[in-house]
Amino acid sequence: MSHHFQLRSSVLSLRFFPGGLGAGFSRTEPRYPGSSGSSGAFAVASPARTLQLHRAKATAKEVGMQAETAQGSAALGWAARDASGVLSPFDFSRRAQKDDDVTIKVLYCGICHTDLYTIKNEWGTAMYPVVPGHEILGVVTSVGSGVTKFKAGETVGVGYFLGSCRSCECCGNGYENYCSGMVLTSNGIDREHGGAVTQGGFSDAIVVNQDYVVRVPDGLPLDGAAPLLCAGVTVYSPMMRFGLNAPGKHLGVVGLGGLGHVAVKFGKAFGMKVTVISTSPGKREEALERLGADEFLVSRDPEQMQKAVGTMDGILDTVSAWHPISPLFALMKPMGQMVFLGGPTKPLELPAYAIVPGGKGIAGNCVGGIRDCQAMLDFAGKHGITAEVEVIKMDYVNTALERLEKNDVRYRFVIDVAGSLGSTA
Ligand SMILES: [Zn+2]
Ligand SMILES: [Zn+2]
Repeated sequence: MSHHFQLRSSVLSLRFFPGGLGAGFSRTEPRYPGSSGSSGAFAVASPARTLQLHRAKATAKEVGMQAETAQGSAALGWAARDASGVLSPFDFSRRAQKDDDVTIKVLYCGICHTDLYTIKNEWGTAMYPVVPGHEILGVVTSVGSGVTKFKAGETVGVGYFLGSCRSCECCGNGYENYCSGMVLTSNGIDREHGGAVTQGGFSDAIVVNQDYVVRVPDGLPLDGAAPLLCAGVTVYSPMMRFGLNAPGKHLGVVGLGGLGHVAVKFGKAFGMKVTVISTSPGKREEALERLGADEFLVSRDPEQMQKAVGTMDGILDTVSAWHPISPLFALMKPMGQMVFLGGPTKPLELPAYAIVPGGKGIAGNCVGGIRDCQAMLDFAGKHGITAEVEVIKMDYVNTALERLEKNDVRYRFVIDVAGSLGSTA
């Protein structure tokens, strides 16, 4: 249940960047202007050692580097160094906070499938070392003099991107997520800041322009709220865009993973009838009883599928593995809307008869804009919607990534970052 298209978009934005990687950036150039070089300059500790020891040791080694980074602040994260994707402690520097910036101490960060694909370089986009993480939930520790939207002490979130061009049609319409100049929160190229590679939320602190920070409503459990920053907005945004948010409408959700399970919760909170469509009969009870879905269809059972033909107003398909889609289109009413959130590498098969006679629509979706993300969080706050999570410490992250690869998680891993890395922000 991942969303490869997010990675595709990062490929596109790299291509869009004039000259691509070669022009302003290469893997061996310094990560920050004035820093002393590539990863060789950063102290690396064995994950087996205690973080506290590691930190003291690294700080001594970093003295020279810090002096050169123009008031940037020392940060501790966990990074992948190569396509093995194994994460280990990584000392680096966050850029200096500017007037419009918010500095955030990271409390929790969710683990998204996209993180897995990025650190293993499955799309060929990884710029090591990579600190993953784009489901960031934290507390504001300080703000620049021009910040009007946030103040210290507030609970905030940062999602899949932390910058965009601000001047294109997408940005103007609140769809920064489709801006060709979007800056990914992790493994992105921050053109406004010297082309530095962005490092994500598996770290103790992050500095972000206020326009790309969202407020987390009071009352939501913070660990369960973290995955909303990516998984939540990825399902919420297309529901708003296609009117799949009206009481009484019938929503189909294909796949019951990180995305699918929050789609069920949002659908029910909108007052819709929600049917889960899955290949795993074993998920029936969980879908109906734990998550509150109304019906459950086993997609491999033609009889069950036949009974539901022509009943749904729209479907969110969250599956990343190749699967037959014609039977899914048949489940929709005339003019029903299909939205693909996953990205199977092998092209899906779409016979024209599946959509032409019923006038059916097809769309893709990749996360959502800042406006949608804030509206989604406010709605989640009102209705008590969070992801179902398994909270882990940072030293379990490599095991968690292995389990995620096997889909062995119900439904999202969330790292207790502050509880693992200490209060160094
Ligand atoms: Zn994600
Ligand atoms: Zn733009």
